[in-house]
Amino acid sequence: MSLLGTLFTKPETQREPESPRVTEILDSLREGVLIVSDDLRIFAANGSARVAFARTNESLAGKRITEVIRDFALHEAFDRALLKKATTVVRVEIIDQDRRVYDVRVSPFEMEDEGRAIGVFYDITKVEHLERVRQAFLSNISHELRTPLTSILAFVETLEDGAIDDEANKRRFLSVIRKNAERMRHLIDDISELSSIESGNVKIDPKEIDLHTLVREVFVNLSAKAGERGIALENEVELETRVRADVLRLEQMLTNLVDNAIKFNQNEGAVTVRCQDLGSRHVIEVSDTGEGIMRDHLQRIFERFYRIDRARSREVGGTGLGLAIVKHLARLHGGEVNVASSLGEGSTFSIELPDAG
Ligand code: ADP
Repeated sequence: MSLLGTLFTKPETQREPESPRVTEILDSLREGVLIVSDDLRIFAANGSARVAFARTNESLAGKRITEVIRDFALHEAFDRALLKKATTVVRVEIIDQDRRVYDVRVSPFEMEDEGRAIGVFYDITKVEHLERVRQAFLSNISHELRTPLTSILAFVETLEDGAIDDEANKRRFLSVIRKNAERMRHLIDDISELSSIESGNVKIDPKEIDLHTLVREVFVNLSAKAGERGIALENEVELETRVRADVLRLEQMLTNLVDNAIKFNQNEGAVTVRCQDLGSRHVIEVSDTGEGIMRDHLQRIFERFYRIDRARSREVGGTGLGLAIVKHLARLHGGEVNVASSLGEGSTFSIELPDAG
């Protein structure tokens, strides 16, 4: 604090030649610093505070703090620092073109025998956003696990209450229990997969891959599921097409996309895989003849647990994590995944893979 006092009070000439240039230090801080006089007007502001709170290029000095930041708790904190010499930490949310959140520490500050107050603004917008994402994720996980668990417990109770001797129904109850337990296992597998990818624990080993053959293998694995609903699987990838990717991870991405294309298709529909060679990259497309996806949902379906129709996704055995996994895997390859869709006609998901690297 005394260092600050030195800066803001002593003229340039009185500073020790080797003393740190505190204005420069303050201006280099990521935190915003505002010093407010006892009339609640701003006495000084550092660079970060000017960037954050000044409209256009105006100077903040001389302005009332209430004009610059409209937040009652912050004004009270400056009042407390000036009148009661007390330090307060407040959270301030500012909504301009974007939304920013700050933790602000407001403390009393003596300068030239005058009482002032200093507010240090820590920008916690990102941290706060991550915290909200984390909480939503946890609450989604517990909800998703609780639903099958409730069902398992209810059917176990029914069996215990006598249904175990009900020859006609006991197998059906057991199969519901199994289905729900499998759903929990699937969900846990997807969660741990996603968390290893996100924490950087999944390494990829890109090699030249024969795409036509890989698509054929993916189709073989999903042919029973497609066959049940008369859905045709069409491999239109030209023979000899080579892409550069980690073979297991590309298979996983394609399996997720083809599986969705089957699940959300109409009976007797078709799923087609093609590949375009764009010179420096390949674009692998998975198209279906399903109901398509409304524009509002298009970007959100890559978010964890986002589903257009939760009940339908559950019915067809979804976890809501498949596309999030595909997105992360595509990015690990230096590529991207995109979707285009037209309602009533179908959707095309495309994985873009760079040829090198
Ligand atoms: P899920 O396990 O529910 O399939 P995903 O992350 O794979 O989870 O997909 C998220 C949501 O995106 C799905 O629940 C569905 O609403 C929508 N979706 C994905 N693929 C398609 C598709 N081919 N056609 C229509 N909707 C789709």
